[in-house]
Amino acid sequence: MNAVGKTIHTMGQQAGRRSWAEPYKIKMVEPLRTTTRAEREHAIAEAGFNTFLLRSDAVYIDLLTDSGTSAMSDRQWAGMMLGDEAYAGSANYYRLEAAIRKHYGYQHIIPTHQGRGAENLLSQCAIKPGDHVPGNMYFTTTRFHQEHAGATFHDVIVDAAHDTSSLHPFKGDIDLDKLQALIDKVGADKIPYVCMAATVNMAGGQPISMANARAVRALTARHGIKIYLDATRAVENAYFIQERESGYADTSLEAILLEFCSYSDGATMSGKKDHLVNIGGWLATNDQELFEEARNLVVVYEGLHTYGGMAGRDMEAMAIGIEESLNVDYMRSRVGQVRYLGDLLEQWDIPFVKPVGGHAIFLDARAFYPHLEQDQFPSQTLAAELYLDSGIRSMERGIVSAGRNNVTGDHHRPKLELTRLTIPRRVYTQAHMDVVAESVKACYDNRHQVTGLNMVYEPKYLRFFQARFERR
Ligand SMILES: *Cc1c(COP(=O)(O)O)cnc(C)c1O
Repeated sequence: MNAVGKTIHTMGQQAGRRSWAEPYKIKMVEPLRTTTRAEREHAIAEAGFNTFLLRSDAVYIDLLTDSGTSAMSDRQWAGMMLGDEAYAGSANYYRLEAAIRKHYGYQHIIPTHQGRGAENLLSQCAIKPGDHVPGNMYFTTTRFHQEHAGATFHDVIVDAAHDTSSLHPFKGDIDLDKLQALIDKVGADKIPYVCMAATVNMAGGQPISMANARAVRALTARHGIKIYLDATRAVENAYFIQERESGYADTSLEAILLEFCSYSDGATMSGKKDHLVNIGGWLATNDQELFEEARNLVVVYEGLHTYGGMAGRDMEAMAIGIEESLNVDYMRSRVGQVRYLGDLLEQWDIPFVKPVGGHAIFLDARAFYPHLEQDQFPSQTLAAELYLDSGIRSMERGIVSAGRNNVTGDHHRPKLELTRLTIPRRVYTQAHMDVVAESVKACYDNRHQVTGLNMVYEPKYLRFFQARFERR
């Protein structure tokens, strides 16, 4: 019996142990395809050693992203049949609007095709060239739209977020001193809003505490600066608050989410994450003026303001997904499944970001490959190695994702070189997590043989999606 099998076997025998299981059963299956090592060698070379360029039929377990990869429930599929595909005033839009108002508390809603559509609208409406936007670490598309609208982005996350070994329970928190220093330096009138992400994807799915959100609100209110939430994983964030922050253990996820959102003036949302759907997003705001401008712009980029690039049926599925995401049994298993994978890796001392965040395990590629320079793309290399070992697809979150400084043209050099194993919602079982852990271990055991990559093609925008590499 292999090591993981043995561990689980013995754990099962521990007296008094009560296991948890996924709070759903399987009604329809999608077969998985396995490949040979030779097929994978061919496929990854064809893909320029970029997992984004692999064909999905060459992938066994797909942990590229949790974006739009969720399994919908039977209720959501039933909702798909209630699509009102009217061009204007779809009934599904009004149900979606009601669900967002009820659970996120914002007044005005603008649907978009996905999160970046909302980011584009917000950035165009709120940012003037020469502005500055502080945020708790960056997200790729979010920062792109802010910079594209003429702003300079400033990372004001706590230092612990950049330390893969720090066990800080809220590594997504904003550092109030860094934020104050920026306000003092550039002036409040040059800061249209603070971009507050919950949880922080690029820091490893790390949560931000309620106390911190409240404090950021108090600080920015003194300067008349608005706060826009990146609410993409705010329900997962609410779960961490319930679990870790004193005073919230007996508060429902619904109540935590509402309080959290009340410290912001609006939000951008990628429904492809928390909302358990395959496509969709929205922008929300309590600001009447910004709402009117964004509602006007949405018709240029997305579609009419009552569908914003989504089909009626997609809006219905999203409205139902919002309710389901707030079910605490679901959220416990969602976060629990990620943690289960982390626990398996932990017992083999495999280096990854701790504490385990909400949606993914972030392997520490610098610690895997201390012999590789950052310019040899350690995270990109690890993603390719993992695919070669077993057909598991992960993604780079390091120097390639960070891109270049658009003034100097140099690489941004993030402290973290991470390879992300992202867990889709309600798609895989614990058995799949066992297989993933064993493959990561095989890569770790083989780490000294690895020589890194050279970038041979670099697109101008969001290069990580389409860049190509060759073995060194
Ligand atoms: C995915 C994501 C976005 C962008 O949303 P899309 O739906 O992919 O356009 C923005 N912010 C965060 C934190 C995300 O994870």
